[in-house]
Amino acid sequence: MSEHLSKLSDLKATGPSRRDLLRNMAFGAAAAALPIGLANAQAKRGRIDVHHHMMPPFIDLWSARKWSPQQSIEIMDKFGTESTILSVTGLTPSYADLFYDGSERAKAFVRRMNEYGAKLASDNPKRLGFFAALPMPNQDDCLKEIEYAFDTLKADGVTMFTDTGDKWPGDPMFRPVFQELNRRKAVLFFHPSVPKCCRGLIPGTGDTTVEFDFDTTRAIVSLLNNGVLAQMPDIKIIVNHAGAAVPALSGRIKDQVRNEQGKVIPGGPAGALEELRKLYFEVAHATFGPPLAAMMKLAPSTQYLWGTDFPVWPYETTVGPLYDTPMPADVEFALNRGNAARLFPKFA
Ligand SMILES: [Zn+2]
Repeated sequence: MSEHLSKLSDLKATGPSRRDLLRNMAFGAAAAALPIGLANAQAKRGRIDVHHHMMPPFIDLWSARKWSPQQSIEIMDKFGTESTILSVTGLTPSYADLFYDGSERAKAFVRRMNEYGAKLASDNPKRLGFFAALPMPNQDDCLKEIEYAFDTLKADGVTMFTDTGDKWPGDPMFRPVFQELNRRKAVLFFHPSVPKCCRGLIPGTGDTTVEFDFDTTRAIVSLLNNGVLAQMPDIKIIVNHAGAAVPALSGRIKDQVRNEQGKVIPGGPAGALEELRKLYFEVAHATFGPPLAAMMKLAPSTQYLWGTDFPVWPYETTVGPLYDTPMPADVEFALNRGNAARLFPKFA
């Protein structure tokens, strides 16, 4: 591994500091000096996929997909992905509901999924990791699952859906979970969902076509306006789909921040924009020119992550459009691997 690659992957997981940005700029200059073919090969090497689903056969609906861990390993090998962090998916809104109806059945389901993910990760330590699901909304149940997931199952982070039926994550009722994730400096991956309010709104249009990204945007605004982003700075939050609508709406979001300035969001509107820039953005099925351009205008290259949404979407839907947006080799490397290697040092 070249000097450039090893140093970039050594950056500490402390978010985008000024020092990190300066170092990245320095490495960018080094990468630019490489022959283009070599720089491209290095950029693609060793991708770390943070949006990739496990669909174990013990779920009826998922068994029809005929997914297996081997299928994921094979597609990773084909596209140069070194490591993948698995997580649950709703697949349909009614299945997402399984995770947060507060029932004993839901708790058992979450536990089974987490133990399944942990087994795959321990069987394939260099290739697979997992984000633990949480039995929302009961906070005591979630805190117990967080403890078990991190301390016993060695989870790489947790995942939440962007809504919990009819509540969004900035709601004060979820504060205990966020305080614990902040204490643990945990990675939190938000997966889109379709809230109960907004299912089947447009006849002939699938719920996920626009609602996934709008609900992701609601979730982030909920966290921002309730002060969670400002007050819980040590949680590393990953936003799906290149930030969904957050980058494109970021100007309007910050201009409409209504809080007692300096209390909920230090710095008011300017502070709000800074909070959004500290989020991490994975690019699954969002490597088209417009979403990538919006993401790259909002956030520095320290915040980009590789994701694919496989097997829900073919790998090609993310890989293909990526090359329509030229980017410096160091930025592409940061997106594919460098930033994730900081967040998940075991894969560095
Ligand atoms: Zn997904």
